[in-house]
Amino acid sequence: MLFDMIQNYDNEKKQFLVSLREKILHQLEKEYDSKKILSFLGKCWIIWIEEKDQLIHIGVPNEFVTTQVKKFFWKGINDAIQEIYHPHFKHKIHIYTPFQTGNHPLQINLSKTLHIETLPTKKIDSETKITLTDHFGILFDPKFQFNNFIVGGNNTFAFSGAKAIAEKPGQIYNPFFIYGHVGLGKTHLMQAIGNYSIENHPKKVVAYLPTSKLIDEVIESIKKNKMTSFLKKFDDVDILILDDIQFLAEKDKTQEIFHNLFNDFVSKKKQIIMSADCSPRDLGNIEARLKTRFASGLVADIGNPDFETRLAILQSKCKEKGESIERPLLEIIAKHIKDNVRELEGVLNVLITKKKLTGQDIGDEDITNALKTMGIRFESSQNNHAILEQSNQRSANNFGKVVEAVASFYNISINDLKGENRKKEVSLARQMLMMIAKKDFNRTLEKIWDYFGWKNHATVIYAINTFEKQCKKDETLRRDLNLITSQTQ
Ligand code: ADP
Ligand code: MG
Repeated sequence: MLFDMIQNYDNEKKQFLVSLREKILHQLEKEYDSKKILSFLGKCWIIWIEEKDQLIHIGVPNEFVTTQVKKFFWKGINDAIQEIYHPHFKHKIHIYTPFQTGNHPLQINLSKTLHIETLPTKKIDSETKITLTDHFGILFDPKFQFNNFIVGGNNTFAFSGAKAIAEKPGQIYNPFFIYGHVGLGKTHLMQAIGNYSIENHPKKVVAYLPTSKLIDEVIESIKKNKMTSFLKKFDDVDILILDDIQFLAEKDKTQEIFHNLFNDFVSKKKQIIMSADCSPRDLGNIEARLKTRFASGLVADIGNPDFETRLAILQSKCKEKGESIERPLLEIIAKHIKDNVRELEGVLNVLITKKKLTGQDIGDEDITNALKTMGIRFESSQNNHAILEQSNQRSANNFGKVVEAVASFYNISINDLKGENRKKEVSLARQMLMMIAKKDFNRTLEKIWDYFGWKNHATVIYAINTFEKQCKKDETLRRDLNLITSQTQ
């Protein structure tokens, strides 16, 4: 009787259950052997979530699988559920025979399940496959697809490039270099290329490697004198995705090794895809010959999404999570968080969790609190729009004060601050002002570069990055920054 309910699920609900299952399997991949997961959990599905008793009901095909799942995965599944869905939920197993026939209502979206089901078979025996998985470790997350990436003016070019490369890896643009500030979708796009390849080019091996991991592996191989076997692992790889390449800065040995790998890949028409937080030219402390090579294929930047794109992203994320939140509320979030999609999503997650826990609809108050957790000031009121206008106005007036404060602190003129003067003191003051503008005034990069009269937004990104890095190292600078911001609040 319990399972008759499944027949009445709407598509959204089914999709939610399917995607929750995907996430749980993905989480288990971190702890368990992928083959074992595939053998025992490949035919298990979430069939019902019972909020009252805090249980996730899992349907399995027969008694044998029940025993195996209980034996091997009992704790793992509970841990995954608690990590992903809710900290108090557990699971319960039922034998659900429609799974045997392979014809049941939750068997949609199968192609999007664990990528291990579709990993390429080309000359990859299971041992090599495990080696690849082990060594290039981080798997492709099925949640990053092209079809859930919202395209707007800020990312059209990067998106089109990524799609073209995913369709014809190694053949058109090599390398492909995506850059942009943190939280704007670089990893999403690169993982989407990976997921697309797994499905559409099953014979190609695609590997995703955060640059920090590459560096660790190089250090480890040097230590253990295993460089040859480390490099050999790349022989099988057809598409190499390296995330956050800016971390190569000052890592001379890894740079040298990557330089060779890079040349080898490009000469064999094997695709290289990289991301960084700034353009190849602006990468600091990376060999010039590497930067030139990075820029030798297609270079695409991702900027800040405009309001419509931010709203569309929020709506799409709501849908993915099986939630509906009224548009005016989403608009408030989209108005306040302008330069980081991860934060946009973070606020949404806080709200959805709250809704799940309390069972109540989300109101302005919740939005205020959620924004507060992200350090964004917003006063809730009957008339949000009026408040929004006012607070923007206040910000605009205050910004003038900050400009004056920074200029007088460094004893330079406002004209110098805005101009092209490259003196060290002036550059530092300028960077500080840009950072305050971005962080405290919610100014988009566009507004900042307009203010400084600059055409190239990479300059602004670079300036802010440089300042942030400097701040991490320099306590006096942090104190100066605090002093200026506290004076002008
Ligand atoms: P980055 O690698 O640039 O720091 P990520 O790719 O990790 O950023 O993106 C952060 C989050 O924002 C991810 O959850 C991603 O799915 C989401 N995101 C970013 N841009 C978009 C977009 N255009 N459409 C949908 N989701 C997006
Ligand atoms: Mg990233």
